[in-house]
Amino acid sequence: MSVKKDTVCVQGGYTPGNGEPRQIPIVQSTTFKYDTGADMGKLFDLEASGYFYTRLQNPTNDYVAAKIAQLEGGTAGMLTSSGQAANFFALFNIAQCGDHIVSSSTIYGGTFNLIAVTMAKMGIEATFVEPDCSDEELEAAFRPNTKAVFGETIANPALTVLDIERFAAAAHRHGVPLIVDNTFATPVFCRPIEWGADIVTHSTTKYMDGHGSAVGGAIVDSGRFDWMAHADKFPGLTTPDESYHGITYAERFGMGGAFITKCTAQLMRDFGSIQSPQNAFYLNLGLESLHVRMPRHAENGMKAAEFLASHPKVTSVSYCGLPGDKYHALAEKYLPDGSCGVVSFVLAGGRAAAETFMNALRLIAIETHVADARSCCLNPASTTHRQMTDEQLAAAGISPGLVRLSCGLEDAGDLIADIAQALEKVD
Ligand SMILES: *Cc1c(COP(=O)(O)O)cnc(C)c1O
Repeated sequence: MSVKKDTVCVQGGYTPGNGEPRQIPIVQSTTFKYDTGADMGKLFDLEASGYFYTRLQNPTNDYVAAKIAQLEGGTAGMLTSSGQAANFFALFNIAQCGDHIVSSSTIYGGTFNLIAVTMAKMGIEATFVEPDCSDEELEAAFRPNTKAVFGETIANPALTVLDIERFAAAAHRHGVPLIVDNTFATPVFCRPIEWGADIVTHSTTKYMDGHGSAVGGAIVDSGRFDWMAHADKFPGLTTPDESYHGITYAERFGMGGAFITKCTAQLMRDFGSIQSPQNAFYLNLGLESLHVRMPRHAENGMKAAEFLASHPKVTSVSYCGLPGDKYHALAEKYLPDGSCGVVSFVLAGGRAAAETFMNALRLIAIETHVADARSCCLNPASTTHRQMTDEQLAAAGISPGLVRLSCGLEDAGDLIADIAQALEKVD
């Protein structure tokens, strides 16, 4: 039975049998019992599917991963311990020492560091391009050893919107997949696979969990990328894996299953960045209301953005829902029903004004977090980027007076009243 996204949020991924638990069971077990060694041997050879050790797979996680895969319109999914692990696994599953990645430059700071510093140490190089670079610049970023293109639907914290179709077309011209981190938009507002993305990742820590309770990540495969058609580029998927008795993932599991099976069998086995079943259970509670919460986050974000844009002490506002925003046209295409609750704005009074403003807030808390039910905010110049001089901040595109505001699920009038009274304290 084909059902709508809202129904998948509530019931996807798990269908109990007669007399079984209505809610997803938390399988709090590291290991699983078999009658014979031969039964278990088949699992180790990937000849049968089943569970043997929670470092690789656990039923609770798989129910929740199946729900996220269904929401994104993919063929297979897996959970990871964090969003960082999800992006690392998605890239490292197809790129190895000597390879190269093309990435949007406006991505989450942790992911930028992962690609630019840590993966560089592993011998994987990257070229960063602005999300609104010219076609020529995008084309010039590719090399013969490029293995993937990476970007974020709505970037954290830059709030740029990725032209997914354009980036997918460029990736496919070069025979490589587009990986899109869809954390901020969530599948409620955008399904990157429908626009040509091949792999979708998430920090489920944000809106999917939505209650600031559990760190986690997810990877979804569209099942549309033909690894065999580009066999020479992706030997890990298209040639035998000696650590699994010579299995060739793309042959054995096809386009729909090869990527996630390899990622589980090799990377989860070797790195062990599994999400705990307890956290997967919390994540699922969040997913059950994702379709109800996201429109409210976006509505509150829009109202806050409109208020801020009309305030004399605010010099600029970034929110793709605003008609004047640089990314509004892309948002109309990719995010027609809303974007997210995160708004960034610059106070005319700079760093001092931002500090005064934030210290005066009563409902909105100062936190290193976004996409929570409770509104929060951060001034990068006085916190995460505190060590930088004003000149260094300018080079990084961060104005000293920039505030990143994450609108939660409170009453919009209350949030605006809080913002308004805090702005009054600013000179
Ligand atoms: C937070 C975030 C990440 C990292 O996720 P963690 O769960 O904190 O590891 C990756 N991408 C985006 C867009 C994020 O907002």
